[in-house]
Amino acid sequence: MLVMKFGGTSVRNREAIERVISIVRGRLESRPMVVVSALARVTRQLCAIAESAQARRRNEAEEQLESLRERHVALAAELLEGHDALKSECLAAVDSICSDLSDFVDGVCRIGELSPRSYARIVSSGELLSSRIVAAAMNAAGIPCRWADAREMIVTDCSYMSAAPDMEMTEANIRRVFPVASKGVSVVLTQGFIASSSEGFPSVLGFEGSDYSAAIFGMALNASRVEIWTDVDGIRTADPRIVPDTSRVERISYSEASEMASLGARVLHPLTIEPARRRNIPVVVLNSAAPDSPGSEVTYGEVARGAKSIAVKEDMDFMQVSSDRPVGASCLLQAVAGELGSRGLKTGPVSVSDSCVSVVVDSGLPGLESAAQSLRERFEVKIFKDKALLSVVGNGAALSQDVMNAVLACPGDIYMAAASPSLLSVSIVVDKSVAGSAAVAMHSAIFGK
Ligand code: ADP
Ligand code: ASP
Ligand code: MG
Repeated sequence: MLVMKFGGTSVRNREAIERVISIVRGRLESRPMVVVSALARVTRQLCAIAESAQARRRNEAEEQLESLRERHVALAAELLEGHDALKSECLAAVDSICSDLSDFVDGVCRIGELSPRSYARIVSSGELLSSRIVAAAMNAAGIPCRWADAREMIVTDCSYMSAAPDMEMTEANIRRVFPVASKGVSVVLTQGFIASSSEGFPSVLGFEGSDYSAAIFGMALNASRVEIWTDVDGIRTADPRIVPDTSRVERISYSEASEMASLGARVLHPLTIEPARRRNIPVVVLNSAAPDSPGSEVTYGEVARGAKSIAVKEDMDFMQVSSDRPVGASCLLQAVAGELGSRGLKTGPVSVSDSCVSVVVDSGLPGLESAAQSLRERFEVKIFKDKALLSVVGNGAALSQDVMNAVLACPGDIYMAAASPSLLSVSIVVDKSVAGSAAVAMHSAIFGK
């Protein structure tokens, strides 16, 4: 069997959903399980609704809810025209999800308090809505399809907004639910991103987590492959939104893909590879707007050595902690990791000597200033804001003379350089304002365009 995941842009409107249906129709022999994200931009809107509710801006939240409801109702009506029974069933489901959401948001407006559990409850509505509509549209198009609830399959811990699945329980659930759901239909359709916590409330696997869901379903069902259908022609030599003339990467290893994702290439969620790797399941990235393009395969097999792609991660801060005497790398690392870790700050590459450690930190989370404040009791601490991380990823990339030349020729100041211990990547920290032009220059030097 096959798992096919369609991201938000692939289900954003009627034309996109019709393309999805035609792609799935071509794969019916493989008995696909289809995983969908929320319609494009919906998760972001739900975050805005949650924040309006927390700030007790009831009118604003209600307006946003109404526009969300209208978009889904209009889409369902358009797709299901002429299929009265399916249409009224689907509109009733959309209505019930929207009403539950409104009631819940109303409760948050009243108390003005938003726990991660309430936040997850709100943002999980996007996938519930989109999956109802796509499932009904499949049936209307003559593909027998059953809607299945991912919350009954994926069980997580209680870190609601970035929940970690209990893989054993999750696999057992998927293996129990899927065979029943697939009886008498050609397609089982479920949601990415959403799950249930061990306490029985909705949780989510972290933003962009639908790729991860798809890989989990693939692992549990021993799929022959997991297809990630998105809006680009496979994995490219750089993000095409930043670098104009990228080319397709044909094959890439699990380790390379995982490294790319962790270093900011958003084409795959960083955790996607891990479940696939457990069962050697290939992950294929394909373009739903150009389904005949071959895409890229992430594989356990042999891949060529050398640079595969440039990853850019914007919105990073950079912290340098130094001592006036050589206290030792382990002492510095322990102090910095303790202060950052206890505040839940996410770090990127680290470079360390006996008297200085430099570390890249995701900006946008509170706590860096207070971590620096504590560290200042023992060390000198400098924080540099508005930085970006630029990385060249590929098996052996960090040992390549050409890659090193291109990295060091980067225009603008380089605040830090680090090779990953696996030698799968080399990264530099630059000013955010030059990240785009630096990526273009590096891409042209390495990939020859
Ligand atoms: P989806 O909604 O389908 O999950 P995403 O927006 O999350 O889609 O991911 C696809 C986007 O990833 C592309 O539009 C592209 O801008 C970005 N991207 C970043 N790095 C790469 C890369 N190396 N190759 C392809 N796409 C990339
Ligand atoms: N809809 C979720 C998000 O936007 C999950 C996903 O698209 O992967 O983060
Ligand atoms: Mg995505």
